[in-house]
Amino acid sequence: MSEGISKYPRFVTKNWEPFDAVELARLTEKIVCREKDAARKYTAFYVAGVYGGIATGYGVGCCLRCVFCWVSPSRDFPETYGEFYTPERAYECMASSAKKSNIHKARISGCEPTLCKAHLISLLDYIEDDQNIKIFILETNGILFGIDKDYVKKIFNSFDKVYLRLSLKAGTPEDFQRKTGARKENFEIPFQAIRNIVDVAGIETLGKRWHVAAMSLDPRIMTVEERTALLKRLVDIDIRLLLLLEEEVVDPYDMSLRRLKAAGLELEWPLKKVYKPAREALQELLRGK
Ligand code: SF4
Repeated sequence: MSEGISKYPRFVTKNWEPFDAVELARLTEKIVCREKDAARKYTAFYVAGVYGGIATGYGVGCCLRCVFCWVSPSRDFPETYGEFYTPERAYECMASSAKKSNIHKARISGCEPTLCKAHLISLLDYIEDDQNIKIFILETNGILFGIDKDYVKKIFNSFDKVYLRLSLKAGTPEDFQRKTGARKENFEIPFQAIRNIVDVAGIETLGKRWHVAAMSLDPRIMTVEERTALLKRLVDIDIRLLLLLEEEVVDPYDMSLRRLKAAGLELEWPLKKVYKPAREALQELLRGK
């Protein structure tokens, strides 16, 4: 166990001790990544209905502990779930399910896919050479891209098929700690990841190669003040981020409900109202409405 983390963090509870997200990333990599052959743990390969059908490798392990996370208990107990797949084997599983279903997209889900860097890069090499798969959607929480600009460069400069979706969890350091279980000092890292992406790929590739998502449409989990703080941070980087901001609400998945309960958070169901999406508000403003 790492010196900074005395016990492997599972799911947020009422008396939670915040962890360092980068340390948890490294600790989790020791469990879910195998150095000698760049293998990574997965629990399943299948075709998911989202994105109009996408070949999905359900990976194991994350460096955050979001209270609204829908992922199976493999997130919290990575040592007990999954089998190791080399990049080649993981690619073959994704490629064959894509081919069988006549779909042209692939992704890793159920985990933080940027953990196990060697695995991801090698997997993307295979994807890049595949004739059938046209796009690989890389869904990330931005922690590792925030601390490693070279990683961002490698992804954008070497892999034309990658489309990146970076998902923000909170709008202030305190809310980040409360919602992800990670220390509030880590709050800035995903915003640094956005700056790294803008530097490497250019803002003009926004919407073509990447965009930002945020759990910011749901008043049950984000106050007006927190949302304003989050949007302001994005505007400070580049106002155009708002025009393509994908805003989400908490869905009542079984695991999400259990994690919210364990964290002592009570949400009212069904969801009765949402905020007006920032991109709509900005578009109206630009049209002079
Ligand atoms: S929501 Fe995403 S970033 Fe948050 S814990 Fe779940 S898998 Fe990790």
